[in-house]
Amino acid sequence: MATVRGPRSEDGAPMRAPADAHDPATEAAVSDILDNVVDVVIRYGRDGAVVWASPSLQRVFGYDPADVVGTPFRLSLPHTRADVEDSVRAALTDHPDVVRSRIRAVRADGAGRWVDVLTRPVWDDAGKVDFSVAVFRDVTEQVRTEQALAASEQRYRLLAENASDVVIEVNVDGEVMWMSPSVRDVLGWEPCDLVGSSAWDLVHPDDVSVLGAGRDEFHAWALPNAATVRWARASGGHRWMSVRARQVPGDSGIATGAVLGLRDVEDEVQARQELAAAEALFDSVMQSSTVGVVTATPDGRFRTVNEAMCRMLGRDDAWFLAHKLPDVVHPDDVHSVLGERTKLLDGSVAESARVMRLVHADGSTVWVRRSGVAVPGRTGLPGLLLLQVENVTPAHEAQQELAYRAFHDPLTGLANRAWIVEMLNADLRATSRTQEDVGVLFIDLDNFKVVNDSLGHSAGDEVLAAIAHRISTSLRSQDRVGRFGGDEFVVVVPDVNDPLDVEIVAERISAAVAQELIVEQHRFVPTVSIGIAVSTAESTSASLLRDTDSALFRAKSAGRARWQFFDELMHAQAVARVTIEAELRRAIDEHEFVVYYQPIVSLAQMRIVGYEALVRWKHPVRGILPPAEFLPVAEESGLIVDIGHQVLDQVCTLLRSRPDLPGAVSVNTSPVQIAHPGWRPAFLATLDAHEVDPHRIAVEVTETAVLSVLDKTREDLTHLRDLGVGIHVDDFGTGYSSIALLRDLPVTGLKLDASFTWNLTADRTARVLASGLSGLAAGLGLMSIAEGIETPEQAAILVEQGWTHGQGYLFGRPGPEPASEIL
Ligand code: C2E
Ligand code: MG
Ligand code: MG
Repeated sequence: MATVRGPRSEDGAPMRAPADAHDPATEAAVSDILDNVVDVVIRYGRDGAVVWASPSLQRVFGYDPADVVGTPFRLSLPHTRADVEDSVRAALTDHPDVVRSRIRAVRADGAGRWVDVLTRPVWDDAGKVDFSVAVFRDVTEQVRTEQALAASEQRYRLLAENASDVVIEVNVDGEVMWMSPSVRDVLGWEPCDLVGSSAWDLVHPDDVSVLGAGRDEFHAWALPNAATVRWARASGGHRWMSVRARQVPGDSGIATGAVLGLRDVEDEVQARQELAAAEALFDSVMQSSTVGVVTATPDGRFRTVNEAMCRMLGRDDAWFLAHKLPDVVHPDDVHSVLGERTKLLDGSVAESARVMRLVHADGSTVWVRRSGVAVPGRTGLPGLLLLQVENVTPAHEAQQELAYRAFHDPLTGLANRAWIVEMLNADLRATSRTQEDVGVLFIDLDNFKVVNDSLGHSAGDEVLAAIAHRISTSLRSQDRVGRFGGDEFVVVVPDVNDPLDVEIVAERISAAVAQELIVEQHRFVPTVSIGIAVSTAESTSASLLRDTDSALFRAKSAGRARWQFFDELMHAQAVARVTIEAELRRAIDEHEFVVYYQPIVSLAQMRIVGYEALVRWKHPVRGILPPAEFLPVAEESGLIVDIGHQVLDQVCTLLRSRPDLPGAVSVNTSPVQIAHPGWRPAFLATLDAHEVDPHRIAVEVTETAVLSVLDKTREDLTHLRDLGVGIHVDDFGTGYSSIALLRDLPVTGLKLDASFTWNLTADRTARVLASGLSGLAAGLGLMSIAEGIETPEQAAILVEQGWTHGQGYLFGRPGPEPASEIL
């Protein structure tokens, strides 16, 4: 209850009883007002009984004014009655003041109402209280509103007190007015200890500016968004708290303080700092990595690219960020790479690794090993693709090179032995389907050993490369060629219907090879010998190659520069031949070689003018073997050099013991022998050892193109010639550069190949050629010897053609002793 000191106006002003209270007009006007006011007015007499009640009593509280007059009607509930009694009594007992009270009233219908009562004494002229007037105002609605507000304030306070957030009320100076108890748990402070101290003192000095709060700026201060600052803990140190602030406006509208809400974000901040540290670590690892590292969005946009990656592709950061993954992938790999990315993103694979191609800024291909993982995003869906990219171009190229080398011959670039056998196997497998045969050509370069030995290996390599090129360019697209080793090449001809198909290939190869070749300024025409085999149903690659080898041997034996088909007879010979080389070595040690002599006859005088020495192998089991049985092997193996020494030694022994023998003895000398570095000294040493006059010896050199062009051959032969040794060109007319040979070497005799002699009667060309060669020999002043004369007719024609000398079974077969007379 509050009392307001009077005299005051309506709500507190002392009032005098109106002088004209009894004037009827005035009374009517007053009554009219009182009828219509909301408040209820009751006049009490000195005794406390109702003298008059305003009509509004009926409307507002449901009581008839007439019923209450004369009663001590107070409107109040029993428990508040005493208060009202007091106030009325107070008002009536000379109390000068207005008495205000709030009571719980009861309406006539029983409903409780809050009512404010204002009781005012009215003085008489003597200054004594005459009566009192009480004004009753129903304030139920207002009270309810106030109560609701109080309840909500209470609830808010409860919330603040019990929330885990810390709530601080500060005044304009930042002084703590109130602090929620949760500060105890969060920062360890006792709330009451802080009241009165400055809230800003609790903030870490470095963060005060972040908060932006200061004593002076308080009125301008607003913190619409949360700021994260450190708050001191009672135990020392700080904790990260997120702060929101709201100013509290006073009645005048000017802020009287602020409420701060602090949320503990220490764990969040720490997690964030750890994340930032991890990111920084990732970043530095990424940047320092020598491997390319890329992150990209699921749709393939580059997010981060490290320096190694930029270097690898010759692009800068900005370029990458403006492009997508497929922009750097080789077009042929894009499809499969996109497929893999989809699998990574949909989780069907956890990790993908592969070797693939990227494209450098300069357009070149970069081989890389790329491994990728999908890094999950917040929602559990893939957030980023993390790719590691290692440049494996050098390794890849080395591997390619290795793979190439595994199947290619580095010198010629042709398939090597392994590969050509592989291709042959494939073609043989295909024959069961196609019902066609496979042809195999085993090609051997004639006299390659001579080139290699006399010109050196680099010249030899040059020749091989040239031959390889010639062979491969002569082939059709379906034919395959490989280098088998040394000077051997193998050509596989698929889909053979007729052996003629293969023969055509052989002819093309032979023609392509036999073109003039210049190696280290030496000109010559290389030739090849070819062994050919055609597959049967039982053929294997091994059997076919073996057969071609047998056929090749036959081609070589038959004089080289030709091809030979395999037949079954060769097979047996081939088997025998396998052991020949080993046997030859033994035969050399055992001196199993003997010399047979065939007379050379003057056709004009029909008398012996010399002999040709022809080697025979006196085989302990097989008997006397002709050169064709072993010479090719002896030449290929180089054993001919030793055999040649033994032959010359025997010839010189004979010449020494037979000073009576007419003319000279011709000794066959293969190019392999002459190319040998020790040939000339050994030759002269033998002559010396037996004291043989060089004029009694002639050297027969096979008409081999290679021979003519080698400086060493020319020097050696010229040297021997100067000493008196005769130089005869053997088998003249069968090679490729016969005329050049005559020009380049110090030749003294020319031997017409037996094939001309044998064809004299049947073949006009042979006859014309033989005749021409005789003229050539005569013109050059050479001794002309026709070989292989078996019939008198042949002899007659040759004499007629001008051949001065002859040799053949007609005059005498080769025998262990030089014949002294013509047969
Ligand atoms: P070549 O130098 O052309 O020797 C002539 C060959 O023809 C000899 O064969 C000889 O027996 C044979 N012949 C001679 N007259 C007739 C005839 O009227 N009719 C027939 N059908 N054949 C005849 P041979 O002795 O079998 O020698 C073959 C080849 O072996 C020689 O051909 C020669 O190139 C080579 N040769 C022989 N001895 C040696 C040698 O000691 N050293 C070297 N490097 N090669 C040799
Ligand atoms: Mg000869
Ligand atoms: Mg001959």
